[in-house]
Amino acid sequence: MRGLTRQTDEVLDMLHEAGYKAYIVGGCVRDMLMGKEPEDYDITTSARPEEIKKVFSGKKTIDTGIAHGTVTVVIDGQAFEITTFRVEAGYSDGRRPDSVSFTGNLKEDAARRDFTMNSIAFNREEGIIDYFGGAADIKAGVIRCVGDPKARFREDGLRIIRAVRFSSVIGFDIEEETRNAALECRASLKNISEERIREELIKFLCGKNVRRQLTANIDILGEVIPELLPMRGFDQKNDHHIYDVLEHTAAVVEAVEAQPRLRLAALFHDIGKPRRFSEDEEGTGHFFGHARTGAEMAEEIMSRLKFDSRSKSDVVTLVRSHSLRIEVSPGAVKRAMNRLTPEIFFDLLKLQRADNAALNPHLSQRAKHYDKLKAMADDIIRDDQCFSLKNLKVNGRDLLRLGVPRGPAIGRILEILLEQVIDGDIPNEKRALLERSRLICEANADFI
Ligand code: ATP
Ligand code: MG
Repeated sequence: MRGLTRQTDEVLDMLHEAGYKAYIVGGCVRDMLMGKEPEDYDITTSARPEEIKKVFSGKKTIDTGIAHGTVTVVIDGQAFEITTFRVEAGYSDGRRPDSVSFTGNLKEDAARRDFTMNSIAFNREEGIIDYFGGAADIKAGVIRCVGDPKARFREDGLRIIRAVRFSSVIGFDIEEETRNAALECRASLKNISEERIREELIKFLCGKNVRRQLTANIDILGEVIPELLPMRGFDQKNDHHIYDVLEHTAAVVEAVEAQPRLRLAALFHDIGKPRRFSEDEEGTGHFFGHARTGAEMAEEIMSRLKFDSRSKSDVVTLVRSHSLRIEVSPGAVKRAMNRLTPEIFFDLLKLQRADNAALNPHLSQRAKHYDKLKAMADDIIRDDQCFSLKNLKVNGRDLLRLGVPRGPAIGRILEILLEQVIDGDIPNEKRALLERSRLICEANADFI
C-alpha cells in the first residue's frame, strides 16, 4: 500500500486523539489496493456529526449531509467527507433509505456498502479491515455485492448502474450471481433520476473496458436506453461489415478518445440503422437516412437524460454528419469547418476514422484519407486562413460604411465574399474585399 497523504494522516490522527475510531474507506482503499493514487479520501468514523464538528472546530467544516452523518472537513485545501458509521433501513422508494441510524460498529457500516471492493477500511494502526472478502475480489478482478445481490439492488437501483460503470472504468467483470441479480432487478433503474443515470453513463462510456462491457451489459443499459437493444444481433447484410450493429458500435466507442462528447456520438452514430434497414435485389443491406434518424434519436435520448443543450447539439451534429464524405480539397475542408466549427470538425474526423476502422478490414481502409483531411485542417488553423465570417477581413459595419443599406443584403454580400475567399478568387484583405463589395453592389443595384 502507498502512504496516505499528510492531510489524511492528520484527519485520522485528530479523530483518534479525541477517542474515536476512524478509517479511510471505499473507493480510496480500492484504488490503493489496485496500486492507483486515490482522487479523494472518504473517512468513516464512530464520531457523531456534532462530535466530528467539535474535533475539527479549528478547521473549515461544511454540513454536507448532517442527517446522514456526513461532514466535510477541509485541511490545507484538501476536502474530506467524514461520515459516521451507519446502518440504513427501509428503501421504499428503491433509491434512498427511509432512515439512517448511527452505529458504533464498523462491520455494520461496511455491510451497507454496495460492493465488496468498496467495503474495505484501513488505518495505520489496524491495517486493512476487510469483512466481506473485498481484497480477494479485487485480486480476482470481480465486482460482487455485499450481501444478497437481489436485496441490495431492490433497495437501491443505482447500484445496478454503478456495477456496470465500475466494470468499464476499472475493468472488472461483474460476478455471476451479482450479474444475474442486476439483470433480474433491472426494472428498479426506473427509480433512479435521469441526472444520476446520465452521470453514470458518461463515466461508463469513458471507461477503458467499455467495448467489452457495452455488449456484455446491453440488457441493463437497454433498460435505460431501450433504443440500444435493436442494435444487438442486427445483421447488416453488407460485405463492409463484419460485426452486427452493436459490436461495431462498441468497437467505435472504444476507438475514439475517452471524452464524453465523442464517446456519446460513437454510441449513437448507428442507432438509427435498425429503423432504416432495406435490402436490395442482391440481398445487400442498406441504411439510407440512418444518420438523420440516429440524430433524431440521440436528441430524444439526451433530452430524456437531461443533458445540457450544448452537449446535446454537439453530439447530435456529430451523429447527423458521421457519414458525410468530405473531399480532400482546401475548399471542402474550409466549408465543413465553417458549417461545423473547427472543434466539431476535428471530432468528426476522429469519429469517422474510428467508424471506418471498425468495418471489414479487407475492404475499407481510409485512414490515409483522414490523415490528409486532418493535415489540411491543421494548416488552415496554423496559417489563420479564412473559413468563416468571423475571420473574414470585412464585416457588416464596413459594408454599412460603403453605403449598403441595413438589412439582409449585408449578410448576403458577406456570404458571397466568404465563398470567394474560400475558393481563392480574392485574398482575405480588406481593400480587395471592399473593392469586390462595390462591384457586387453595382451588379445587384436593383436588388439592394
Ligand atoms: P468513485 O468516487 O471512484 O466513483 P467510490 O467507490 O469512491 O468511487 P462514491 O460514489 O464516491 O464511490 O462512494 C463512496 C463509497 O460509498 C463507495 O465506495 C461505497 O462504499 C459507498 N456507496 C456509494 N454509493 C453507494 C450506494 N448506492 N449503495 C451503497 N454504498 C454506496
Ligand atoms: Mg469517491
